[in-house]
Amino acid sequence: MVDTTEIIARHYLTGEGHRVVCCGGVIESIDPAEAPADRWYAPGIFDPQINGYAGVDFQKDGLETQDLQKAAEGLLSDGCPRWLLTLITDDWEKLIDRLRHLKALRDADEGLRRAITGWHVEGPFLSPEPGFCGAHDPTVMRDAVVGDINQLRETLGDDPILLTVAPEREGAMAAIARAVELGMRVSLGHCDPSVENLTDAKSAGATGFTHLSNGGPQELDRHDNFLWRVLDAGGLMCGLIPDRIHVRPMLFRVLHRVLEPVNIYYTTDAMSAAGAPPGRYTVGRLDIEVGEDQVVRQPGKTNLAGSALRPIQGVERVAEMLGQSWQEVWDSFSTRPATFVGIDSELTPGNSSSICKVTTDDSGQLVSVEAIQ
Ligand SMILES: [Zn+2]
Repeated sequence: MVDTTEIIARHYLTGEGHRVVCCGGVIESIDPAEAPADRWYAPGIFDPQINGYAGVDFQKDGLETQDLQKAAEGLLSDGCPRWLLTLITDDWEKLIDRLRHLKALRDADEGLRRAITGWHVEGPFLSPEPGFCGAHDPTVMRDAVVGDINQLRETLGDDPILLTVAPEREGAMAAIARAVELGMRVSLGHCDPSVENLTDAKSAGATGFTHLSNGGPQELDRHDNFLWRVLDAGGLMCGLIPDRIHVRPMLFRVLHRVLEPVNIYYTTDAMSAAGAPPGRYTVGRLDIEVGEDQVVRQPGKTNLAGSALRPIQGVERVAEMLGQSWQEVWDSFSTRPATFVGIDSELTPGNSSSICKVTTDDSGQLVSVEAIQ
């Protein structure tokens, strides 16, 4: 049976009332209609970096369909119908086996095919240096060879792939060029690149920077550090984690003044504790504590290990930090990251029906969100 959904709501940017009919995961039609003042529709939140959700850790072996469904349902109920399943650094063969297994589960289930639009491989081609490695295990990091990139493409078929690499590693430029040749998007991250590394990586086809201002040490040289170099170089699509913890509000605002708005997208970088109560969780082999403050800590360490931010909370916090409306910040957490990884998210008949229905109060503030796929 094909599921049909009808939405009567106002377009999030134009305010025009529409009747949107969606059928089988696709927008069938959009026609003018009278819509209530407090009902809106917008492209579904798209998050390119989801490490786990609702208590499910994607870095674990032996996950089953229902685990992925639980995470997908949690994300959907928090406004994120589509996302990239993200795996972090591990022994390369283990990482490939895990991707193969997760892809088989995803491919066999229609709901998961709609939700898991592609894959973000964050590691193991990253910087092992203290601070830059973050929560990634430096002992299993390595230089990428072209064969690894080919293997990644073979494992994941034609799916969208976002690959985060450190450009200062041996062989990185050839790996970046090959990844781009095979249709992957390459983002730099967990790295300490020189100005020359950045120039070369962009020439080789890298287009993004993963969770800018994180993936580096707490203390940096005030005259010259990776953040200044990336900001000065410009031209990369930068992800920011808008939880007020990974990027404090002051820095968040400064980054929005320095970067071109079209070069910013948001991501939760959510791990298993997101969409779940405070407590003890894992990111792969790491034990993690998450308190009421939503800070994700490795016990006894200062670095953050992903976030417990829910996507719709991210929209609210961005709007609050920037003093803008939810409509003004929405594209940076939906169409922009989707376009960055090569996914069409325009609200047009024939496109995916990944949509958020938003309800607002009398002052236009976001009250609730219901996402559909
Ligand atoms: Zn990271």
